Amino acid sequence: MTTFVPDTALAALVVAVEGPVLEPTDPGYAEEVSGFNAAYLPSPAVVVGATRPADVAAAVRHAAATGRRVSVQATGHGLLGDLNGTVLVSTRRMTGLSVDPAARTARVEAGVRWREVIDAAAPYGLAPLNGSASSVGVVGYTTGGGLGPMARRYGFAADHVTALTIVTADGEIRDVDAQCDPDLFWAVRGGKANFGIVTSIEFALMPVTRFHGGGIFFPGGSAPAVLHAWREWAPTLPEDATTSVALLALPPDPNLPPPLQGRFVAHLRFTHLGSAESGAALLAPMRSAAEPILDLVGEMPYPAIDAVHMDPTAPMPVWDRGTALAALPAGAVDAILDEAGPDSSSPLVLVELRLLGGAIARRPEVPNAVSGRDAAFSVYCLGVPAGPDAAVQVPARAASLVDALAPWTAGGGLVNLLGQASAGRVGALWSDDDRARLLEIGRRHDPSGMFGTNVVIG
Ligand SMILES: Cc1cc2nc3c(=O)[nH]c(=O)nc-3n(C[C@H](O)[C@H](O)[C@H](O)COP(=O)(O)OP(=O)(O)OC[C@H]3O[C@@H](n4cnc5c(N)ncnc54)[C@H](O)[C@@H]3O)c2cc1C
Repeated sequence: MTTFVPDTALAALVVAVEGPVLEPTDPGYAEEVSGFNAAYLPSPAVVVGATRPADVAAAVRHAAATGRRVSVQATGHGLLGDLNGTVLVSTRRMTGLSVDPAARTARVEAGVRWREVIDAAAPYGLAPLNGSASSVGVVGYTTGGGLGPMARRYGFAADHVTALTIVTADGEIRDVDAQCDPDLFWAVRGGKANFGIVTSIEFALMPVTRFHGGGIFFPGGSAPAVLHAWREWAPTLPEDATTSVALLALPPDPNLPPPLQGRFVAHLRFTHLGSAESGAALLAPMRSAAEPILDLVGEMPYPAIDAVHMDPTAPMPVWDRGTALAALPAGAVDAILDEAGPDSSSPLVLVELRLLGGAIARRPEVPNAVSGRDAAFSVYCLGVPAGPDAAVQVPARAASLVDALAPWTAGGGLVNLLGQASAGRVGALWSDDDRARLLEIGRRHDPSGMFGTNVVIG
C-alpha cells in the first residue's frame, strides 16, 4: 500500500533539516542508502542525512505525521533489508567525538565508527571496547551489546555506557542515564533501535595500550584437530584472554597474504592482556594442535586490534545467521565439521565460534538488556548470496547448521550476531521477564511501533 504524503509535509522536512532529504528519484539517494552489506539496496521512502539531533527529531516527527515507520543506518554493517518504505535517518554525518582522558570516557555522535575512537583514545593510553572490525559503527554495535576482542576481561561494550541522548517516537531529544529514565537506559543498552534513535553515547575507556594476540591460520585439512583442540583449550583460559576460531573459505584476494589466497583454513583468534611470555605459554597447546600456514600472533599496540580477526573491510554481499550454545562437546564440533568443514561442500564462507564467559557472564553495576550473557559459546555463520543458487543454498545450509547444533543451544543469544532474523527468533533471545520489560518500555515510549523495523522483540 502506498502512503499518500502531501508535498507540504516533505517541504517542511526539507526546511527543518540541515542535511540532505532525498527521495528515491533524487541524485545521491542510492549512495546515501548503501552500506557495507552489498546484498541489499534498501528502498526507504525518504532518507534524511542528519547532521544534528534536531534533524533526527524532525525526521521522527515527519514519520509520525505521515504514518511511516522510522529506521536508522550509520554504516550498513547490520542491515537486515527491511528499511523499505520507512523514513531512514542516515547518521553518517554525525561524527562528533570527544575523549576525556581524566574521566577515561569518550562521547561520540551516532555516525562515529570504532576506528575513530581507537585512534582518539590511544594517545592517552586508553582503548574502547570495539568489536572484531573497527569499521563497525559505535552506536549500532553498542546498543546490541557489543562483544569484542577484550570481552572476557571487560564484558560487553553496553556494560560500560554511562549516558546517552536519544530521540524518542514523540520527537523529543532526551538525555538518559542511570538516574534519568533508568527504564529507557536499561532497554537501549541491549535492545537495539526499538526505543528511538540514539544521537550520541558516552562510555568508559579501558587503560589498555598493548595486547598480545593476533591470528594463527591452519590448513583446512587440520580443521578437525584444531576445532577439537580449541573446544578443550578455550574454556581453560583466564579472563585476560579472549578467543574465537573460524572455518574460512578465503577468496583469491590479492590483499590477503599469498599463502591464504583462495584457501580453506581454520583461523584461531587470540587476545591476551598480559605479557608476551604468559600469552605464549597460554597459546602453546594450540600452536601444537597442527602445523600452521601462518602464525601472526605477537605483541601489538592496541590500534592494531583489527589484526586479530582480519575481517573484510570493503562492502560485500552478506547473508548471516547466528546462535548460542550452552556447551561445546565433541559431538557439537563434529556437527559443525559435517555441515561446514573442509569436505562438506558448504556454501558458507565463515563459521565462527566465540568463547564467552568471564566478564561477559557478569551483570554490570547498572543492569542492562544485553541478551546472551549466560551462553558459553556464540556461533555465527556467513555466506555470500551472489546468484540465485547461493541465495537459496546459503540460508539453507545456515539453517541446517543451526538445526544440527540444536541439542546444545543456549536459552538466549547475541542480538548483534543473530543475522537475518525472523521476529520470533529475536524475541526468543531474552528471558520471559526481560522480554516483557522490553515490550512494556517499548509500548510506553513508542505506542504505535514506529521503531520496530530492524529488530522486532515480540
Ligand atoms: C564485519 C563485521 C564485524 C562485526 N563484528 C562484531 C563483533 O565483533 N561484535 C559484535 O557484537 N557485533 C559485531 N558485528 C555486528 C554489528 O555490531 C552490528 O551489525 C551492528 O548493528 C552494526 O552497527 P552499524 O551502525 O555499523 O550498522 P548499521 O547497519 O548502520 O546499523 C545496524 C543497526 O544498528 C542499530 N542502530 C544503528 N544506529 C543507531 C542509532 N543511532 N540509534 C539506535 N540504533 C541504531 C539499528 O538497529 C540498525 O539497524 C559485526 C558486523 C560486521 C558486518
